[in-house]
Amino acid sequence: MAMMAVVKAGAYGHGLEEVARIFAETGVAFLGVANVGEARRIAMAGISCRIYLLGATWSEERQEIVERDWTPCISSMEEARHFDVLAKSCGKRLRVHIAVDTGMGRGGFVPEQLPEIWKVLSQHTGLEIEGIGSHLPSADEDEEFTRAQFSQFNEIIAGLGGVAAFPWRHLANSAGLLGYDPLQCNLARPGLMLYGISPLPAFQARLRPAMTLKSRVTLIRTLPTGHGVSYGRSYVTTRPTRVATIGMGYGDGYPRHVSGHAPRVFLRGRYFPVLGRVTMDQMMIDVTDATDVMEGDEVELFGPNLPVQEVAEKADTISWHVLTGITARVVRRFTGAAT
Ligand SMILES: *Cc1c(COP(=O)(O)O)cnc(C)c1O
Repeated sequence: MAMMAVVKAGAYGHGLEEVARIFAETGVAFLGVANVGEARRIAMAGISCRIYLLGATWSEERQEIVERDWTPCISSMEEARHFDVLAKSCGKRLRVHIAVDTGMGRGGFVPEQLPEIWKVLSQHTGLEIEGIGSHLPSADEDEEFTRAQFSQFNEIIAGLGGVAAFPWRHLANSAGLLGYDPLQCNLARPGLMLYGISPLPAFQARLRPAMTLKSRVTLIRTLPTGHGVSYGRSYVTTRPTRVATIGMGYGDGYPRHVSGHAPRVFLRGRYFPVLGRVTMDQMMIDVTDATDVMEGDEVELFGPNLPVQEVAEKADTISWHVLTGITARVVRRFTGAAT
């Protein structure tokens, strides 16, 4: 099984160029990006690895795609015709993959269209159809549906000339790769799991989260009983409370929506509850019972001791969303410790 390392959305918030370079050096077959903007950044950084565009492209961007030999997926005859014309005018054959919609509803040809389309596509001599792909909408939620998608994808390939017709055959995202038999697929498209987070809880023990979100205690004060903490005064102290302020908030991408769902942070080997609402740049925790906590202490908001899944759940969202939401204000430090 070869790999397309999915590095869209700034490599899931980890840092696009830095992460893309590591995967390229590892020798993955493709880097998967969402759009031309991300493809450009990878090319500008001098990273040489084939780039696959996971999403549909705007017509104005296609000339550049052809010139740079990025690999688009084709979801419509209009796209196919346009890429064919552009490739011919550049005197090349552009390698493309056919996208099939086996249930995602976001892109691709619906399976019923395929036999007809296949005939027409093969007449486009500017295109080299080197792959076929589809996507899984619920590999971490609906095993039966996902299993049916794998077998349908298999049948589609068989109906279009078999594995020999498609050097690259890909369907599985992280959950698809972890939880299912790949059948005829020979290329996986993992994203989340490359960053050490498993979409299926059973596999988390085998992975190590790449990102630790950290800040520091910037201030410690003791507030009297009956004193409100943060906007809306949703929390009011019920005893004299030693409150530590942390220099991070939703302006850094730490989700404000955790407020009110018992969020916690990790410092000095213990967990401390967040008090009241997360503000843009700061948040407060209760350190009354920890006299050793001091200003300047490092705080883990998620990472090895506090799963990002927990933060996501409390914010009523998913790990993908939390990771990709970490903003540019947060300095990325690459330790290179992951092996
Ligand atoms: C984002 C994406 C992936 C990676 O998904 P993960 O769940 O993060 O592994 C794979 N394929 C496509 C088409 C995607 O858009």
